[in-house]
Amino acid sequence: MAETALNAKQKSIATVASYAARGNQDGLKQALIEGLDAGVSVNEFKEILVQTYAYCGFPRSLNALNTLMQVTEERGNKDELGKLPSAKPEGESLDYGTENQTKLVGRPVEGKIYEFAPAIDEFLKAHLFGDIFARDNVDWQTRELATIAMLASMNNVTAQLNSHINVGKHNGLTDEQVTEILEIADKTGVETVLFGLGEENTAYAKYFIGKSYLQPMTNEGIHASNVTFEPKARNNWHIHHKTGQTLFVVSGRGWYQEWGKPAQELKAGDVVNIPEGVKHWHGAAKDSWFTHIAISVPNEGATAEWLEPVEDEEYNKLK
Ligand code: MN
Repeated sequence: MAETALNAKQKSIATVASYAARGNQDGLKQALIEGLDAGVSVNEFKEILVQTYAYCGFPRSLNALNTLMQVTEERGNKDELGKLPSAKPEGESLDYGTENQTKLVGRPVEGKIYEFAPAIDEFLKAHLFGDIFARDNVDWQTRELATIAMLASMNNVTAQLNSHINVGKHNGLTDEQVTEILEIADKTGVETVLFGLGEENTAYAKYFIGKSYLQPMTNEGIHASNVTFEPKARNNWHIHHKTGQTLFVVSGRGWYQEWGKPAQELKAGDVVNIPEGVKHWHGAAKDSWFTHIAISVPNEGATAEWLEPVEDEEYNKLK
C-alpha cells in the first residue's frame, strides 16, 4: 500500500464522517465495516456520528447511527466497544464550553453574527464545545478531522470548512493530512453521484493517464456512459471519426482541449459538443475528481482514433 499521511484509523474516521454527511448509507456501511476491521471501536464511531448532528443535522446523524447499529448487529455484536467518555466536568457547560472553544481555536471566538443572534453563540459554546467536546473518549484532533471531512462533503460551507482546517492544524493535523481528508471527501462525493462510479475502466486504460471508471448507461438509440476520472487522470489526444461526442459534466473540476486551442475548464453543468474529426482530450483537474456523461450517436463505421498522451509537462501548466 502507498505511504499516506493519515493512519488507517484516521482514514477510516474521515471516510465514515464524509459518507455520514452525504447521507450515503451504502458507502457508510462499507466504510464502517472496514473501519471496525482496522481497529476503530464501536464507541469511537458512535461519538463521531453523534457529533455529526452538530454539523449536518439530526436526520443525517440518526440515519448514520442506525447504519452503525445494523452493522454491529450483523457482525454479531462482537466488535470491541471501546472506551466510554468519563463523567461530565464540574460546573456549567457554557463555562467549560467557552474554555474548550478558546483552547481549540487558539483564541476567543468573536463575531458580529454572535451579537446579532446570541442564542447561536450560547448553543455553540454550551452544547457543541461544552457537552460534545467534553466527551473525552475521542480526542479533539480526531473530532476536527471528522469535522473537516463532514464540511468538505457539504455544499456552500466554505467559510466553516476553511475555519475548521485552521482549527485542525492548530490541533496538530499536518498540511498533508488535511489534503488527504479533502481527497477522501471528494471521492465519497463521486461515489454518491446520480449514476454511480461503475467499474474501473481497464479496457481503455492504455489510452489514459491515471485511473478512470466507467458506468455504462444505455446503448439503445444512443451510446451514453458516465465516466469518472481520479485527480490528474485524463485520456490521450484522440479523434472521434464518423460521429461526434457530447460531454455533460456531472461533478468535480476538469478540462477539455482541442488541438491548437487553449484548454477549457469544466465544472458541473457544463456541456461540450465535440464535432467529428476534431483532435481533443478530456479529463480531471490535478486536485479534483471529475465526472462527465459522454454521449454519442452510433453511426456505421464510427471509431475512435487514439493518439499521443497528454504529457505531464503540458498538463501541469493547467491550474
Ligand atoms: Mn472524446
